[in-house]
Amino acid sequence: MLRVGVGYDAHRLVEGRKLILGGVEVPFGKGLEGYSDADVLCHAIMDAILGAAGLGDIGQMFPDDDPAFKGVSSLGLLYTLVEYCRRRRDIQIVNVDATVVAQRPKLAPYILQMRALLSKAIGIPAERVSVKATTTEGMGFTGAGEGMAAYAVVMIEETEQPEEVEGNGRRPGKP
Ligand SMILES: [Zn+2]
Repeated sequence: MLRVGVGYDAHRLVEGRKLILGGVEVPFGKGLEGYSDADVLCHAIMDAILGAAGLGDIGQMFPDDDPAFKGVSSLGLLYTLVEYCRRRRDIQIVNVDATVVAQRPKLAPYILQMRALLSKAIGIPAERVSVKATTTEGMGFTGAGEGMAAYAVVMIEETEQPEEVEGNGRRPGKP
């Protein structure tokens, strides 16, 4: 069965932080504020994967009052999350499509690198991980440079669960 999930995230832009998007450090005078590295693109993708799998949301999985996640790489969290979803459910991620909304800086030079890193973390080919960037033509909080936002859609394929479970409680074909 095919399942789809949607994710959205936004973070404030502040001085004195690195700007990390899709695991790539993008040179810019400011960075996104947050408990982890505040990688808004990774966070939107993570929420979309959890949504498609029906396994809650990123705040439940990685609470932002847990010291373990302070300053942590969201790309690493994405890898952990995909492994978790695969353990919990018999799923394959089919493709990811994401859009980063940012007035500045120009993200085009970094898109290929973002796709490469994201595809490695998710475990699918880069051609199935789409990252796009857009502005809001100066409108709203992204247009004013107060913050950045990201949207993501993820499709997953879940193997049909057999009606009857074998005597040992395991599903056939699963170790
Ligand atoms: Zn976030």
